[in-house]
Amino acid sequence: MTQLPSAQQLRDQILYHLTHTQGRGSEFATTFDWRLAVSYTIRDLIVTPWMAAIRASRDQGAKRVYYLSMEFLIGRILGDAIINLGLDAAMDEALDLLGLDKQEVLDNEPDAALGNGGLGRLAACFMESLSSLQCPAFGYGIRYEHGLFRQRFEAGQQVETPEDWLNQPHPWEFVRIDYSYTVGFKGHVEDRDGRAVWLPGESVVARAYDTPVVGWEGHWANTLRLWGAHPTTLFDLHRFNAGDHAAASEPEALARTLSRVLYPDDGTESGKELRLKQEYFLTSAALQDILRRFLAEHDDLSLLPQKVAIQLNDTHPAIAGPELMRLLMDEHGLDFAEARDLARGTLNYTNHTLLPEALERWSTWLLGRVLPRHMQIIQMIDEDHRKTSGRPDHVAILRHDEVQMGELAFIMAGKVNGVSALHTDLVKETVFADLHRLHPDRIVNQTNGVTPRRWLRMSNPALARLLDDSIGTGWTKDLAQLSRLEAHADDAAFLDRLRAAKRANKVVLANGLLAGLGIKADPDAIFDVQVKRIHEYKRQLLNILEAIALWQRIHDDPNADWTPRLKIFGGKAAPGYWLAKTVIHLINDVAATINKDPVTSKFLQIAYPPNYNVSMAEDLIPAADLSEQISTAGKEASGTGNMKFTMNGALTIGTLDGANVEIREHVGAENFFLFGLTADEAARVRARPGHARAAIEKSEDLRAALQMIAEGKFSGGRADPYFSLLDRTWHDDPFLVASDFEDYFATQRKVDAAYRDAPHWDRMAALNIARSGFFSSDRTIRGYMQDVWHIEPVTL
Ligand SMILES: *Cc1c(COP(=O)(O)O)cnc(C)c1O
Repeated sequence: MTQLPSAQQLRDQILYHLTHTQGRGSEFATTFDWRLAVSYTIRDLIVTPWMAAIRASRDQGAKRVYYLSMEFLIGRILGDAIINLGLDAAMDEALDLLGLDKQEVLDNEPDAALGNGGLGRLAACFMESLSSLQCPAFGYGIRYEHGLFRQRFEAGQQVETPEDWLNQPHPWEFVRIDYSYTVGFKGHVEDRDGRAVWLPGESVVARAYDTPVVGWEGHWANTLRLWGAHPTTLFDLHRFNAGDHAAASEPEALARTLSRVLYPDDGTESGKELRLKQEYFLTSAALQDILRRFLAEHDDLSLLPQKVAIQLNDTHPAIAGPELMRLLMDEHGLDFAEARDLARGTLNYTNHTLLPEALERWSTWLLGRVLPRHMQIIQMIDEDHRKTSGRPDHVAILRHDEVQMGELAFIMAGKVNGVSALHTDLVKETVFADLHRLHPDRIVNQTNGVTPRRWLRMSNPALARLLDDSIGTGWTKDLAQLSRLEAHADDAAFLDRLRAAKRANKVVLANGLLAGLGIKADPDAIFDVQVKRIHEYKRQLLNILEAIALWQRIHDDPNADWTPRLKIFGGKAAPGYWLAKTVIHLINDVAATINKDPVTSKFLQIAYPPNYNVSMAEDLIPAADLSEQISTAGKEASGTGNMKFTMNGALTIGTLDGANVEIREHVGAENFFLFGLTADEAARVRARPGHARAAIEKSEDLRAALQMIAEGKFSGGRADPYFSLLDRTWHDDPFLVASDFEDYFATQRKVDAAYRDAPHWDRMAALNIARSGFFSSDRTIRGYMQDVWHIEPVTL
C-alpha cells in the first residue's frame, strides 16, 4: 500500500458503501448495515495488494505453498484487517465522525468458527503469517454452513445449538463460479486397455469461495479458498414431474450435507461416511485446483515439486497422497513410480496428536466403497513401500482391515513434522518409531506459534501502546525485538505502566463478567484462566478439584490472609464426549456453590462464561494473570493458548508438556510455575496398579474434595451425576489427576505468595513478555519455508 486513506476519505467510502452496496440511507442504517459498509471499505483496500501478490507470484514463476486443513478457526476478520492495513487510528476517527461506536461495529461481526480448537486456530495464524512474510500461499478448507456449535448451559450442563454465521451476508468472500470441480464418490473402476478408469456412482461440484488474508502493513494478501458443495444437476425434472419429489432432490441433498457442518472433534467417533466424504471433497477439489494452476503456468509435470509445496494439517487430508497419484496416473498418464516420486516431492504432513483414539483409521470396507480407485492405489503404495523399504508387517498402511491414515500420510510425505520439541521426540519414539528408523531424515520439528498481530497488537491495545512507547513498533513484525524489554524489567516506572495496562484489561473483563454472568469480580484478585477444549488430558478436573480444596482451606480459616483469586474457565466439550461434559457440569455446580458462600467469596470466585471462541479468547487472555497449562505430560502436542498468554504477560502454571517446555526454557525456570510428573514419570506411574488410590490416600485435601462431590455437596445432595467420574478418578485415572494433585496444590500456594509481592510479580510478567518472541507464528512459518517447503518470499 502506498498511500493510506485519511479519516475523511474512509468516512466517505463508508457512506458510499452504505448507500450503494448496502442500499441504506444513513438515517435508517442498523449496526449491521454500518458494519458491512465498513467491511466493504476495508475490503476495497485489501483487493489491491491481493491482486498485486497474485500477479507477482505468477509473473515470477514463484513456488507456492498450499495449506490443506479441514479447519480454519478464523474468528472475526474486520478488526484484524484494520490493524494490518495500519488504519487503526484513521478508522477510529472516521467512525467518530459518523457518530458510531467502534466496539459495537466490530462486535457485530459473527465469529467464524470453522474449527474446533488449536489445530484450526494454528491454520488461521499461519495464513496471517504467510501473508505478512510475503510467501505465496493458498489455504484450502471447507466452507461449512454451520461452524462449531454454540454452547449454552442449562442447569450447569452443556447444551449445543447450531451456529449460523452464514445466515447473513458475508462481506469478505468472493464466489468463483468459474473455479468449480467435480468430485466423485463410490461407483466402480474399469480396466480399459490396461488403464484404470473410475466411474463414480455419485458426484458433487466443489465451488471456490475466496477470502483474502492481508498481512502486516498491507503489502501482501494470500487467498483462503473454501470449497462449498453444490449439486451437479439442479434436480431431476422428469422425476419431479412424475411426482417423485424427494428422489428428484437427491443430488441437492448430498451436496448440501457435504459442506453443512463441521465435525466437532469427537475423537472416538470414527467410521463416519460423511466425514470421509468431506475429507475427500476438500482434498480432491484442492488438488484439481493446484494442478490446473500449475499446468496453466508450466507444461512439464516433473517440475511439480519445484513449484508446489502441499502441507497436510494432520491426517484429515491424507487422502491427498492417493488422490494426487490418481490424477497423475489416470488423468495425465504417468506411471506409478513417477507419480509416487512427484507426490512425495510435493506433500508434507504435520502430526498433531499422539492420543491413539485420535489417530485416523478407516475400515477398508468403507474406504473401498466410497473411494474404490483410491483403495487400489493405497494397496499399490503399501506394497511398493514394503518392497522398497523392507518394512515389517506391523507398520503396513493396511492392517486389521483398516487404512491407517497416519502411516499413509507419513509414507507419502517428503517431510513429517511434530509441533513442539517434546512432541517431535515422542513422535519419533512412539507413533512413528518404526517408520522413523526406516526414514531417519523425514521427521523434523516445527514448534507452533501464534500471530502477534491478532494476539497482541489487536487484542491488547493497552499493552501494545506500552511496548510501542518502550521499544518502538518493530516488534509487530519481528517479535524477537521484545527482548529489548529486558532493559526495562527493573524500571519501576515501566513496571507500573505494565501493571496499569493489565489492571485496565481486568476491569474491562470484570465489567463483562458482571453484565454476562452477574459475577462481581475484584480486579485486584489473581485472574486465573483455563480456556481450551474440555478434554480429560487437559485436566480441567485437576483445576476444579484444587478450587474445592482451596475453598475448604479458606473455610477452615476465614480470617487468614488469603490471596483473592478469580478462577475463569472456558471451553466446549465434544457433544459425544460424555466425561468431558460431566466435568463441565461439575465446574458449574461447584461455581454455583462457592460463589454464593458469604464466608469465602471475597477470596475465591469461579466464572465459566459459555461459548468460548476466538473473540472470547481475545477478551480473556489480555486480562489473565495466571495461565493454566496443566495437561498430563506427554499428551499435549504443543498448545498455542500457552503462547498467547505468555506474550500478554500472564505467568504460567504448567507441566513439562508440549511447548510449555520451550516456553519455560525461554522465559527462565524462575519465571514459570512448574509442577507435576514428567512424560517419562507419568508413563511409569500409569503402569503401577492402584496409583490413583495410593495418591488419593496420601492427600487429605484431595480426599476431602472427592468426598464432598460424592456427598452431593455441589449438586443438591444427589451425587449420581458424578458417580462414574469419581469412580474413574479412584480406580483408573489414566490422566493422573490424583498423582499430580499435591504438587499442583502446593504450587498454586506459591503462586498466591508470589502474587502478593507485586514488584516481583510484575518483573516476572515483563520477562515473560520480553522472552516470548520465539513464539510468533512468523518464526514457525520461516522454519517451514526453510526446512520443509524450500521456498523464498516474493518481492513486489
Ligand atoms: C488458541 C486457541 C485454542 C488453543 O488453545 P490450547 O490451550 O492450545 O488448547 C483453542 N480455541 C481458541 C478459540 C483459541 O483461540
